[in-house]
Amino acid sequence: MTSHIAFIGLGNMGGPMAHNLLKHDFQVTVFDLNQNAVKVLTDQGAQAAGNAQAAAQQADVVITMLPSGEIVKSVYLGDDGLIQSVQKDTLLIDCSTIAAEDAREVIAAAHKHGVGMIDAPVSGGTAAAEAGTLTFICGGDDKDFNAAKPILSAMGKHIFHAGEAGAGQVAKICNNMLLAIHMIGTSEALNMGVAQGLDPAVMSEIMKASSGNNWSLQVYNPYPGVMPKVPASRDYQGGFMVELMNKDLGLSQKLAAQSKASTPLGALSAQLYQIHQNQGGSGLDFSSILQFLQAK
Ligand code: NAD
Repeated sequence: MTSHIAFIGLGNMGGPMAHNLLKHDFQVTVFDLNQNAVKVLTDQGAQAAGNAQAAAQQADVVITMLPSGEIVKSVYLGDDGLIQSVQKDTLLIDCSTIAAEDAREVIAAAHKHGVGMIDAPVSGGTAAAEAGTLTFICGGDDKDFNAAKPILSAMGKHIFHAGEAGAGQVAKICNNMLLAIHMIGTSEALNMGVAQGLDPAVMSEIMKASSGNNWSLQVYNPYPGVMPKVPASRDYQGGFMVELMNKDLGLSQKLAAQSKASTPLGALSAQLYQIHQNQGGSGLDFSSILQFLQAK
């Protein structure tokens, strides 16, 4: 029975995920560069460690939830990286969204050192992270996936095994390209209806019961005031930042080039989010693309 989990990266997603592990009575040791994020978790019953290696040393399982592949590699690889500092029977689970080749590189380094590891990026946003209903999209060996499943179940509702190492990241990036496309489409439709004098809440109900229905309309409406508790109704604060969506769209376009896949809407979405970021939207939730598209 796994009892001790190290959790590294306590941001918008990692914070509530670690909280759910505590609620399931796991012993959790946390680390983040941001002391405020650490304090939230220690107030909830977690132990704090002075650095990532110290958090991981006694753990049965290490979970990371970090912004980018570069940061993931800096935390795991190298002489003072996690792979060198954990015990051999530790299971490593990286839940960050990163390039599949970065995930494969880190997992190969873990295997070389005799340590099991999977990539396990998530979908569902901060609401699902808080509710413990995330979708986990995993890549790796059957043995490591099966060992991770009971722990992921404490934070998620759907746990998929997409394939070998890196396969979780491929599926996640395909999903997020589609997410950007339907968030932009939903925003365009709502802005057009409102410009014609329609109520965005009424429009949303109509489209949810019609062929335009999609996840953005169902749980993440981008129009302020239509849905309580979504970023659009709190000035686009919290949630999934434009800069992170931009990172994912960049990864999607690399993947498209590698696969010779035609993704014209993915490419246009990447451009729109890049312009939004360059014009000051970087730290806003990604549903703020609705305001970016509004007539000024
Ligand atoms: P965030 O920026 O809110 O949190 C990242 C955390 O990592 C921060 O607290 C930061 O201080 C910490 N951190 C950065 N470098 C570190 C280091 N070297 N050591 C320890 N801690 C470090 O980001 P987030 O929204 O929580 O996203 C995390 C990951 O999850 C990203 O890869 C993102 O693409 C993915 N994701 C986010 C969402 C979402 O809705 N926010 C949904 C699905 C997936």
